[in-house]
Amino acid sequence: MTTENSAAPRTYQVRTYGCQMNVHDSERIAGLLDAAGYVKAAEADTADVVVFNTCAVRENADNRLYGNLGHLRPVKDKHPGMQIAVGGCLAQKDQGDIVKKAPWVDVVFGTHNIGSLPVLLERARHNEEAQVELLESLEIFPSTLPARRESTYAGWVSISVGCNNTCTFCIVPSLRGKEKDRRPGEVLAEVEALVAEGVLEVTLLGQNVNTYGVEFGDRLAFGKLLRACGSLRERGLERVRFTSPHPAAFTDDVIDAMAETENVCHSLHMPLQSGSDTVLKAMRRSYRADRYLSIIDNVRRAMPDAAITTDIIVGFPGETEEDFQQTLHVVREARFASAFTFQYSKRPGTPAATMEGQLPKQVVQERYERLMALVEEVTWAENKKLVGQEVEVLVAVGEGRKDGATGRLSGRARDGRLVHFEGAQGIRPGDIVHTTVTYAAPHHLNADGPLLAHRLTRAGDAHEAGQVTRTKGVMLGLPTIGQPVALAASKDACAS
Ligand code: SF4
Repeated sequence: MTTENSAAPRTYQVRTYGCQMNVHDSERIAGLLDAAGYVKAAEADTADVVVFNTCAVRENADNRLYGNLGHLRPVKDKHPGMQIAVGGCLAQKDQGDIVKKAPWVDVVFGTHNIGSLPVLLERARHNEEAQVELLESLEIFPSTLPARRESTYAGWVSISVGCNNTCTFCIVPSLRGKEKDRRPGEVLAEVEALVAEGVLEVTLLGQNVNTYGVEFGDRLAFGKLLRACGSLRERGLERVRFTSPHPAAFTDDVIDAMAETENVCHSLHMPLQSGSDTVLKAMRRSYRADRYLSIIDNVRRAMPDAAITTDIIVGFPGETEEDFQQTLHVVREARFASAFTFQYSKRPGTPAATMEGQLPKQVVQERYERLMALVEEVTWAENKKLVGQEVEVLVAVGEGRKDGATGRLSGRARDGRLVHFEGAQGIRPGDIVHTTVTYAAPHHLNADGPLLAHRLTRAGDAHEAGQVTRTKGVMLGLPTIGQPVALAASKDACAS
């Protein structure tokens, strides 16, 4: 891919909003653009192509997108040939409205056709008009597309997309469609490809990971997949995580697989959303508080060191003080290691947005503050239990905002906790260190004593050498407009 007047490749930048699913989709978008001959723009440069990968779940997502598009308009005016593309959930939701509201946008693509982006950019340039292409169902599983990974040591692997549930606060089912599962062989091939590149940690991703298999009729498929990942330990897969399981579908075989598979981390992120059965019912979530707590009991019985984290929504329509007290009760009982807490706010297009009993902002705010205070008390108490214990830390990039000032390095323990530790010469992101926890805060641990061990890893070597981890995709049946050269060249760029 070159500009019309020069041999220099066109550059791109991907701006991501939202959940892990979007972060991972952005790796696919970057991989696709690399494969089509574009190159990632340097931080300070104005890119020739700016892609917004949007989120419709967060509050004010629309305002934020249109605000950012507005800022980019004068930049585009000064850079002839610049293109702007908008994809992701908000694009799927707003469809053609985006080019009506922001006619300087060149391409709009949806959650079901990420793979079409390079072609749509080409077509927009060639035809000199905006291209809007959104499909109602998945065209190609995103994981069959090439990816440019953000990290040399940890990788996302999508096992399913979409969701068959109908939680009344959630826009995901209408934007991402019904659950589609990848075949276990394909998932494992991608995990193996990552491990061959030196990646130590893999997170299996799905809107509802533990219903994996529903499409091909195997209710035990998720536990089997965890065990199959265990067989890659000898080849260097040290940590396996997953997000997010649904409590209603959480079965004992998954707990057994977690406990019995050595490289599966003892961390579980399981959204609670509410501790009140009445509210859970109104949310159309089919488990109840007792069931949620009994899963946690079973997990702790099998893995006493498990760190359990969650998502909670406060102020759902109709939530009473008594309902809220039940949420506080579950938080106390569950002893969460951390919790993402959200104030309910209406998402247009969801059933909850038109429910009666919407609560005044100050009530929601006040409950939210009480919940935050309790969460902090609980997580701090849980973290304090770890003081004096040895932890294994996978050194990370960008996890410690104050590291520059404190001389510490940061990373994640096996249970997912954030650990800041005393830095030493020669430790690179991707390496493994062992250290002792000396101090606990509500949201992190410090380890300020001497290191017990430091292991150099291939991921650390790759990071030090500035390598980018890539996984190949299969570009099946994508029409292209007159630029096969760049695609051919890109095959070499896929290292795995
Ligand atoms: S389980 Fe509920 S909250 Fe999660 S993606 Fe599906 S509908 Fe949304």
